[in-house]
Amino acid sequence: MGKFAIKDENGMEQYFDGLAKDKQELILKAKILVYECEGIESEIKQWFRTINIAGIPLNNQELLNAVFSGPFVTLGKEEFSNSLNSNIQKWDAYIAAKVNRQEFWECALEWVSKDKANIDGYMSLHRYDKNIKEVKTYFNSVIDWVSTVFTDVKKEMRGLEWGRLYEQYNKKPYNPAKVSQAVKKYYSDSSVNNHKGIFEYILGGEKDTKLLEIRIFDDVIKHSTYEKQTASAKKSGKSNCPNCAIGHDANTKKIWKEEEMDADHVAAWSKGGSTSKANCQMLCRTHNQAKGNR
Ligand SMILES: [Zn+2]
Repeated sequence: MGKFAIKDENGMEQYFDGLAKDKQELILKAKILVYECEGIESEIKQWFRTINIAGIPLNNQELLNAVFSGPFVTLGKEEFSNSLNSNIQKWDAYIAAKVNRQEFWECALEWVSKDKANIDGYMSLHRYDKNIKEVKTYFNSVIDWVSTVFTDVKKEMRGLEWGRLYEQYNKKPYNPAKVSQAVKKYYSDSSVNNHKGIFEYILGGEKDTKLLEIRIFDDVIKHSTYEKQTASAKKSGKSNCPNCAIGHDANTKKIWKEEEMDADHVAAWSKGGSTSKANCQMLCRTHNQAKGNR
């Protein structure tokens, strides 16, 4: 009693004790319909999903907390859903979550159970545990690992799949000073479109350039390169695709249309080539695809 304020008819917030006697009576004598439901776990889950339609609906983790209520959930919420926990500021740099909607708790469970789809089963298995040691230890290992490997905190780190990346790369040794240099290098490279991909790119040994979404040449560069190549190709009687021109098939003299060609980095970006006019050539589709890497 006295825990929640309610709004009176004038919109004023009042606690129970401050209400007029007749209003208090009204509340105390109000009849409330209570359903008592019994059933197996899956039936209980179904119940929660059925009644979860009024007000602000519970999200998936809130539903699971309700279904698996017990000491394990209580301890989990104390640690991960407690806005007074001073660690939240640190976690917030890596995890995009709202503490009051059970999202850090959900993340911790997802990491320890390796997949969001496994949370359900994990909670069911640990429902009556009197501690959350395994969840907490695993969660902290991931956070410690990320913050050790990447010493600079970037806003693009927030919400990446750190649980998966930890599983994939935590056994590999990294030199934090070198990693930091690499992060700086890719952040300042204007060809790198996807800054979120930089971290996994570095973890994977700087090989998978797809993660970085390397910038492609803009239309102005493409068009002027096409014009230049085509003019000199016509003069020399060879194909305007330099790779076709040196080939031995029917295409050695073929003049491709602009829309039949793609821009290519002469020196691959991964080998230091820039996304500038000087490093652009137009190739026919076949030859550009054959070249593959950027
Ligand atoms: Zn070609």
